[in-house]
Amino acid sequence: MDEQWGFETKAIHSGQAPEPETGAVVVPIFQTSTYAQEALGRPRQGYEYSRTGNPTRKAYETCIAALEGGAWGLAFASGMAAINNCIYLLKPGDHVVCSDDVYGGTYRFFSKVAAEYGIRFDFVDLSQPGALEKALQPATRMVWVETPTNPMLRLTDLSAISKVTQARKVLLVVDNTFMSPYLQRPLSLGADLVVHSATKYLAGHADVVNGCMVGNDPTILDQMKFHQNAVGAIPGPFDCWLVMRGLKTLAVRMDRHCANAIALAKTLESHPGVARVHYPGLPSHPQHALAQQQMRGFGGMLSFEVRGGAAAAQAVLESVQLFLLAESLGGVESLIELPAIMTHASIPAERRAALGITDGLIRLSVGLESLEDLQADLTHALSEARQYA
Ligand code: PLP
Repeated sequence: MDEQWGFETKAIHSGQAPEPETGAVVVPIFQTSTYAQEALGRPRQGYEYSRTGNPTRKAYETCIAALEGGAWGLAFASGMAAINNCIYLLKPGDHVVCSDDVYGGTYRFFSKVAAEYGIRFDFVDLSQPGALEKALQPATRMVWVETPTNPMLRLTDLSAISKVTQARKVLLVVDNTFMSPYLQRPLSLGADLVVHSATKYLAGHADVVNGCMVGNDPTILDQMKFHQNAVGAIPGPFDCWLVMRGLKTLAVRMDRHCANAIALAKTLESHPGVARVHYPGLPSHPQHALAQQQMRGFGGMLSFEVRGGAAAAQAVLESVQLFLLAESLGGVESLIELPAIMTHASIPAERRAALGITDGLIRLSVGLESLEDLQADLTHALSEARQYA
């Protein structure tokens, strides 16, 4: 029955039937490390130890799988832990093609940690048609995509990429953190695995660090579940419960994130102190047509280049009163940051320059406050920066 439900219904009910003992409508927080067994070798309902499995975690894993349209879901202690687990699908000598402006932490993990264990990475602009074909090698086993990218909001055509990966029997993994399954469903476009920093839109309230992955292939599930248990980077039951609570309102939150972001993007685009706005919902975005085709909405993230470079950007950051100067994204509160100094500082300066991450590039995570207040805050901050333009 669940499969026929709409997105909002799945978010509220998938994996979350009333608790059988008491009828509690909210899945309880099973704050337990172990489970009394019925008899030797006979655990009740399959639960033995909470690193291996926990009913609160299971409910969340079932719900996120339903939302992404996958057969299974697994939860992790953070987005990075979920990303790390994917790398255990590879062996030394294997090659990965990765989007070039991925999240800085993903770049750091791939280039500084996984590479030390013999996995080879090439960072490629996968938004360019034909770029993947050129980057593939006989040893390529995985293609890693973020779309839209962070912070330049460039898109990758997932259907086009998945045609290539399927023909070459290469795994396609999509980090869907920026979009959430409400706005983009990579499995339906041919991806093999979807990963999330659930810290962001899925949980949605900036109160938990968590990650997850969703897939269809039962063989990959066996491998991933084995590593989830063997490595042990699992989330506690309260964190799973918080993400599940966030998922219930994901659809309504995402609609409002999108509405506020497009309005702010238009305000910024028409402002004389702004040189360029990067937002897939703007007709000026070079891949606006692809965005309309691949995404149900354009998301709550945007970046813009102020006139006047680093000094002007700093003045904006120091003058905002409502936008909070903070890393991260996807919560109800609006955040502002300077990728070159904050989220993307772990990327070498030459790479940042090549990607267009200048010292004057500001990234916004547009929250759910009143639009007029957000517009007024940014307009005021830009007026404080006009002496540098
Ligand atoms: N992927 C993306 C796109 C992110 O933005 C982040 C964190 O900012 C991560 C993965 C890592 O997730 P976490 O911070 O939950 O470990």
